[in-house]
Amino acid sequence: MGLRDLPAVHRLIGLLAEVFPDVPAQWLLEAARASLEQARQTLRAGNAQPSIAQIVAHAEHLLRQRQQLPLRPVINATGVIVHTNLGRAPLSAAAQQAIISASAGYSNLEYDLAQGERGSRNSLLEPQLQRLTGAEAALVVNNAAAAMLLCLSCFAQGREVIVSRGHAVEIGGGFRIPDILRQSGCTLVDVGTTNRSYLHDYTAAITNQTAVLLHVHASNFQVLGFTHEPSVAELAQAAHAQQKLLICDLGSGALLDTQAFGLAAEPTVQQLINDQADLVVFSGDKLLGGPQAGLIVGKRSLIDQLRKHPLLRALRVDKLTIAALSATLMAYETQRASHEIPIWRMLGCSLAELEQRALPMLAEYPAAQLVATHATIGGGSLPGSSLPSRGLALDGAAEALSAHLRANDPPIVGRIHAQRLILDLRTVLPEQDAVIVAALAALNSA
Ligand SMILES: *Cc1c(COP(=O)(O)O)cnc(C)c1O
Repeated sequence: MGLRDLPAVHRLIGLLAEVFPDVPAQWLLEAARASLEQARQTLRAGNAQPSIAQIVAHAEHLLRQRQQLPLRPVINATGVIVHTNLGRAPLSAAAQQAIISASAGYSNLEYDLAQGERGSRNSLLEPQLQRLTGAEAALVVNNAAAAMLLCLSCFAQGREVIVSRGHAVEIGGGFRIPDILRQSGCTLVDVGTTNRSYLHDYTAAITNQTAVLLHVHASNFQVLGFTHEPSVAELAQAAHAQQKLLICDLGSGALLDTQAFGLAAEPTVQQLINDQADLVVFSGDKLLGGPQAGLIVGKRSLIDQLRKHPLLRALRVDKLTIAALSATLMAYETQRASHEIPIWRMLGCSLAELEQRALPMLAEYPAAQLVATHATIGGGSLPGSSLPSRGLALDGAAEALSAHLRANDPPIVGRIHAQRLILDLRTVLPEQDAVIVAALAALNSA
């Protein structure tokens, strides 16, 4: 067969239309043309002419790709629980349901049902956050970076912010404390050293230009050895003695005690409020286990000023986020968080259970071994703290196996360790096990 033996475009379109009756004609035309062009290139390169079945199959593949939404569900077998590249915290069933209910129709987003008049989206989450954290008031914005920008712009624009040199850090994804300060129009006054800062370093730096003492939780790195930093309670006392504010960027913001899950201690939001921090900022989608959001809790008079700040309009939280966040907070209020919120379930899952779940996978793919692994929290939470876990180590070329599983639908993302592909089961939701079993079965028979 030569070039002129390739099927005509209209014939190819006819075949495709039988399989894809609902896609626009333009898509069929473009897929047919692209597949024929690829066949021509194959021929020109001196290779064998693709069969009609192959040309049709390639066009079908192109159409299936085009039907896929760009943001796809992925199975996280990396063992990193709050994986920023994989969308951080998976939502609880209740949070998913809340998104569906709030999105299918209208809602009281900015409507006071009791009074029959305009309400505020900024009031919806406040009562729950007050009860859970003990704070006088609360406000939620788009993410924690936005929350920091808002707090610093509101309370320190044109003035000085005192930060320990050990806290002038980069969180990742372009979030650097010095940059956020600059963007908020504040002057950074750094005190102490990278490893040691004392209370008197802060107090000596306070001037009449000072607006805020900023405490940043070391959420994604550890300073080990010869270290010191004053406690939040000490900083709060020092700030208040001179009528300054203490703002804490807590990062991941746990409401539960991480030590109960065998992890290192992480200060809770409640603790920092109890220690008299004026404002505490944390993320919705890290250890809280909810949607992307930036939560600000603290003093009533300060939150009231934030609510009036013009920047708030640009950073405002979306109704789907409010829906998911309130359902997530409800799980904490009803003390069901540890078994309803996926990240806490993952953290609490026993090794025996993980081993049990590995069995059907090993049965489908004998060239794999059950191995002891270490899952980490990730997402700027609990650096250096890991959790014993279990995974499958697959025999064979790790890169090729990894690419193969990433091409699965839904994609399965593992991690490569010591030249082996590892599928860590701690971050796989139990309801996704069957997908892995099927993918391994297909891999085994390939
Ligand atoms: C993760 C983190 C942030 C940024 O939070 P986002 O919600 O991703 O904007 C800020 N500060 C600290 C300490 C963090 O760990």
